[in-house]
Amino acid sequence: LIVSCPESVQLSVSEGLSVAVVQEKELLCKEFLSRPKQLLIDGKWVNSVSGKTFETLNPATEEVLCRVAEGGKEDVDKAVKAARRAFETGPWRKMSTAERARIMLRLADLIEKHADELAQIETLDNGKPINESRYVDVPQTVETFRYYAGWATKLEGETINANTNFFTDTLREPVGVVGQIIPWNFPMLMLAWKWGPALAAGNCVVLKPAEQTPLSALRIGELALEAGFPDGVINIITGFGADSAGEAISHHMDIDKVAFTGEDKTGKLIVQASTSNLKRVSLELGGKAPNIVFADADIDAAVKGAITGIFFNQGQVCCAGSRLFLEKNIHDEFMTKLTERIGKMRQGEGMDEKTHIGPQVSKEQQERILNYIGIAKGEGAKLACGGEAPAEMKKGYFVKPTVFTGVNNDMRIAQEEVFGPVLAVIPFGTMDEVAEQANKTTFGLSGAVWTRDVKKAHKFASHIKAGTIWVNCYNVFDPAVPFGGYKMSGYGRELGKHSIELYTNIKSVWVNMMD
Ligand code: NAP
Ligand code: MG
Repeated sequence: LIVSCPESVQLSVSEGLSVAVVQEKELLCKEFLSRPKQLLIDGKWVNSVSGKTFETLNPATEEVLCRVAEGGKEDVDKAVKAARRAFETGPWRKMSTAERARIMLRLADLIEKHADELAQIETLDNGKPINESRYVDVPQTVETFRYYAGWATKLEGETINANTNFFTDTLREPVGVVGQIIPWNFPMLMLAWKWGPALAAGNCVVLKPAEQTPLSALRIGELALEAGFPDGVINIITGFGADSAGEAISHHMDIDKVAFTGEDKTGKLIVQASTSNLKRVSLELGGKAPNIVFADADIDAAVKGAITGIFFNQGQVCCAGSRLFLEKNIHDEFMTKLTERIGKMRQGEGMDEKTHIGPQVSKEQQERILNYIGIAKGEGAKLACGGEAPAEMKKGYFVKPTVFTGVNNDMRIAQEEVFGPVLAVIPFGTMDEVAEQANKTTFGLSGAVWTRDVKKAHKFASHIKAGTIWVNCYNVFDPAVPFGGYKMSGYGRELGKHSIELYTNIKSVWVNMMD
């Protein structure tokens, strides 16, 4: 299954993509929203030790959706204790890997069964268009659990013929108790990327969702209990990162590994904190991807790809194609087509079926993006469209789809992660020029090349220092295909068999065979 096709989700819906239209008038998650939102520790829903709670908002309306338990250090301690006990002495490690796989498959089935409700929860909490939640986030979450359920029964060690005096083999073992800290841009999908390989390998997890988007994790936590995960195998601590639950996880002496997705600055803090007990760390951080269009490309396809690349999920995507390199002789034609297509995008509440682009996740992010727009103007970039919050939206954290032309790769707008619907267009003359500029960034998460020349495509695929390269496509994902960063975009690979490496240890066993 290759989902993604966010471009078709975004723009073709209005052009008649045959999707089963579900009426959003019925609020399937109403009952969930009205229930108390507690922490999941040791198989039970409990209040935080402090009793504190915090609000989560609908970024399209600025209304409070509900209050959620605010977990802190003491709650993390409780969760880690439960996870440790579940790992060392609970039924999780003793059960067959087939049974472990079945529990994961049951969770996937339950998520699928409640797909529309979960899509609404994600859209209300994050703001993303309902068609993206429904056709990207939820199905990719389901497929990720199914893919990793398949791995549970396929983990193997090896025998090594090193020395006939010894029988030598390796055991692949789970690392133990795993802390997982995730961001708000793909709340349930990031949960699946983290839980899938960790659980398949037999670990026990303590997850901290982002403060802006705690809800889908809590609903999936309910479904996980229904699926039959033993007590303590999965724990969810909603709350804050700095000086709170997130920091408690990264410093914890009894957590064996921490997996983090988010900002590079936070990633550095996580690495520093990990020195407490030298826990293993994997990081998936930001990006400033080059999206390179050569004159010999299918221009219409590349225009759609540029839109998918930067406006999918309101630009809140770590692998967003935020630097669009256009070969000079197609620049003007490309820009005409691009701005015309952007003009057709409908901005509005995510819950509206017709919405292509929703609000940013929070006021803080909206302000950050508007600030970057000001910086770009100050640097002399030329505004081609957007550049402000839409005046017609009286409420919500919206930013119009924005494109700057005449950008120079050294400008801040081309070097810093905006994490919003802001595209920097950089014209180029020669292959050498674009080859040099593409890698002139501290990040290295992804990149794309649009060309009909196979040789050029391969040359750039090997030249660009990034973990994922798309050729004549953008934002395509599959749970079987690894994803992760070069340079300051992080280390470790998620998805595919590579993620299993993050969550397992190899042990060598020597048996003396000498008489
Ligand atoms: P962030 O601070 O890195 O947040 C990611 C996660 O880390 C959240 O769960 C957060 O908790 C937690 N966290 C924050 N400080 C922590 C600490 N000191 N120790 C442990 N955990 C901590 O990112 P953000 O503030 O949400 O967004 C800021 C910028 O980061 C964005 O504008 C964007 O540039 C980038 N970002 C990148 C990605 C990505 O996928 N690469 C995703 C999100 C954001 P709380 O949020 O609950 O405090
Ligand atoms: Mg929210």
